[in-house]
Amino acid sequence: MSYIIDHIPKSKDKRSGTKANMTSITIHNTGNPRSTARNERGWLTNPENNRAASFHIVVDDKEAIECIPLDEVAYHAGNAEGNRSSIGIEVCESGDQQRTWENAVALVVRLLIERGWGIANVRTHKSWSGKDCPRLLLPRWTELLTDIEQGIKALSEASPDASEVEAWKLEGLKYLAEKRLISDPPLWTGKIDEAMPVWAAMIIMANIHRDLKEGKQDA
Ligand SMILES: [Zn+2]
Repeated sequence: MSYIIDHIPKSKDKRSGTKANMTSITIHNTGNPRSTARNERGWLTNPENNRAASFHIVVDDKEAIECIPLDEVAYHAGNAEGNRSSIGIEVCESGDQQRTWENAVALVVRLLIERGWGIANVRTHKSWSGKDCPRLLLPRWTELLTDIEQGIKALSEASPDASEVEAWKLEGLKYLAEKRLISDPPLWTGKIDEAMPVWAAMIIMANIHRDLKEGKQDA
């Protein structure tokens, strides 16, 4: 599955640009059996769409499209608390639903691992506002959470356990993951004791020195 970043421009009723401190992921269904991820992304910037409604990521049987940065508010939960604190994922109802299911699971697993979260951080739209959403996934919700949990387990078993690495060695990795400068922290945990060539160390030190001299802050 490809992950495409195609952010919509800032606007009052879809993407305010307000930064948010996310603490969960909210799952939705699109409610439209014919629309693909591309269609949903297109609808967000269709001039005829006047609804104050948006989402962060939409996933179908082929791809996931990130429409709003994951650290910004989107209007998907039906209440302010949900919009301010939760990453909204729309799961398409079109195409091969088994593939869509697998893609949604893989997407949620990755987002959870990147943030050090678990299935306790996965919610339904219904849990915020009572709406019957995700309408296709609600009857299979326990099954979905089980698949997500197994996905997390499979990935963490594939990489060396972070608990076996000294905490101070993981400090830099944790910082870079939080700033989203690296993805897949478990992969990098597995490489944490690998040697770095001298030239790489020299380049990094030179860049840091240059940045400090030029007074650069967070890029
Ligand atoms: Zn919904």
